Amino acid sequence: MIDILRARLKQGHRTISFPNQPPTLPDRFRGCPVIDEAKCVSDCQRCAEVCPTGSIIQVHSTKPQVDLGRCLFCTDCAEACPNDAIRYHSDYSMSSNQRIDLVVNANTEAGPLVSALKKESLRLFGHSLKLRQVSAGGCNGCESDTNVLSTITFDLGRFGVQFVASPRHADGLLITGPVKENKRVALLKTWETVPAPKIVIAVGACAISGGPFQNHPEVHNGVSDILPVDLYIPGCPPHPITILDGILRLLSRI
Ligand code: SF4
Ligand code: SF4
Repeated sequence: MIDILRARLKQGHRTISFPNQPPTLPDRFRGCPVIDEAKCVSDCQRCAEVCPTGSIIQVHSTKPQVDLGRCLFCTDCAEACPNDAIRYHSDYSMSSNQRIDLVVNANTEAGPLVSALKKESLRLFGHSLKLRQVSAGGCNGCESDTNVLSTITFDLGRFGVQFVASPRHADGLLITGPVKENKRVALLKTWETVPAPKIVIAVGACAISGGPFQNHPEVHNGVSDILPVDLYIPGCPPHPITILDGILRLLSRI
């Protein structure tokens, strides 16, 4: 016992200071893309050609836009661009309440697009949010980066946010995976079991759009067509800090 106490004293405080201080991210962290329109040659299309998920879209102009809801953050588009027009920055704050706001173009200003929950929901959940995690066919990448939030490094519990085993004890669902057909009924039943009012958080490219599995006949291309989503957290998988940042913004804690 004395040895354990000594070891703990030696280890000191391990929980990160986020959000009071900016997080320390690894050098290879890939956050929100920045598109330099001036460098982009409009008829090039090389970025779109290499993108494995069709995340490079062109709606109102011939310049590229990146749909973070589909993006795997593989950076193949940045490497394919001969003019260095796309770069992936260290901006970890990428979540959004609206699916459309995940589309980034050259004019997109850096910064979060998350509005806090409405007043009554915030009163109920702002300091105590219990979530049931549902893996609707994920690869375990998003699930792992969500699970790690409960370790002492991130200590999600200090914000009053905890994962619970039963949907009856939950205030909402945190969903990963593309929603395979054989998980659809289980997801719906879990949702129906959560008492109202309740929220839905879609974590990862799969839960937002189907990710690398989009348009497969056994896949529902994410949660949006099945349940109302309050928060989209992009990534494949999202870094735990991106998940934490999105949840804290939804709870008006940042
Ligand atoms: S980083 Fe995203 S947009 Fe770029 S090629 Fe990969 S999946 Fe496509
Ligand atoms: S978004 Fe990526 S990491 Fe998450 S479940 Fe899908 S394939 Fe796995």
